Amino acid sequence: MSERWITEELHDGLRSGYRADNILFEANDGLQHLVIYENAQFGRMMSLDGITQVTERDEFVYHEMMSHVPILAHGAAKKVGIIGGGDGGVLREVLRHKTVEAVTMVEIDQAVVDMCVEHMPMISNGAFDDPRTNLVITDGAAFVEETSERFDVIIVDSTDPIGPGEVLFRESFYAAAKRCLTPGGVIVTQNGVPFVQGAELKSTMTKFRKLFKAPACYLATIPTYVMGSMALGWGSDNPDLLNVTVETLAARFEGLDGATRYYTPAVHKAAFALPPYVSQYL
Ligand code: SAM
Repeated sequence: MSERWITEELHDGLRSGYRADNILFEANDGLQHLVIYENAQFGRMMSLDGITQVTERDEFVYHEMMSHVPILAHGAAKKVGIIGGGDGGVLREVLRHKTVEAVTMVEIDQAVVDMCVEHMPMISNGAFDDPRTNLVITDGAAFVEETSERFDVIIVDSTDPIGPGEVLFRESFYAAAKRCLTPGGVIVTQNGVPFVQGAELKSTMTKFRKLFKAPACYLATIPTYVMGSMALGWGSDNPDLLNVTVETLAARFEGLDGATRYYTPAVHKAAFALPPYVSQYL
């Protein structure tokens, strides 16, 4: 039988591919084309509309950096909101913080949650069953417009700005999400790989500069988000969150149950040191 490759063509003129040794699930529910498959290098992988979302082997980088950086910088996050994040990796990492009392996760596609729990259970690792988890299946943009909930940290673990994810990059979404922050709260966003998606980072940072007193960006390197470091957007009205010392972060980090494989307080601080090819977009 001929080999099947899942190819990603997110960036013009560039194609990256992963051999699908075993397709575990595939469906196009009209919302997104969802494929979960096994690959020799990365273990189980999930793609949406042909774009790699999460892999068993490198997910820890992204999920640790999207979760622990804002929560440990904040220092007293009790209520966390996650927009997107259907695979449950960010939810898993957020729930490792004993200070967190409640997490509302707003995911548009129930199939992503269901199929990731069934075929990639190691990603959420039971997080959806945690009594602190409140899963809401709806469009994140509509949710932030309507909800009366308030969050100390909001994590936008979205797809790229295509398809259902496009609305999560609009100024109206960011403004409504800011309304849902408690005073001094922080929002972080998945903001693409600036080497090939610099325009997206520039677009978000332009909006964040209008909305927040202390916009910033930090980096993490996830092998399957190809073409270099990924940018994670940061928006807050509290500049002090960007100046938390490594010693304070280390003291707070002690409270996290278990080890991490990418995040450390030193990596946290270093992640905000941007090379000029990235800082040009801020
Ligand atoms: N780590 C991945 C990345 O960096 O691209 C993102 C992973 S996560 C699977 C992305 C999630 O965003 C998907 O589950 C998708 O269904 C969800 N999503 C896309 N648009 C959405 C929207 N408007 N509201 C809520 N969730 C959305």
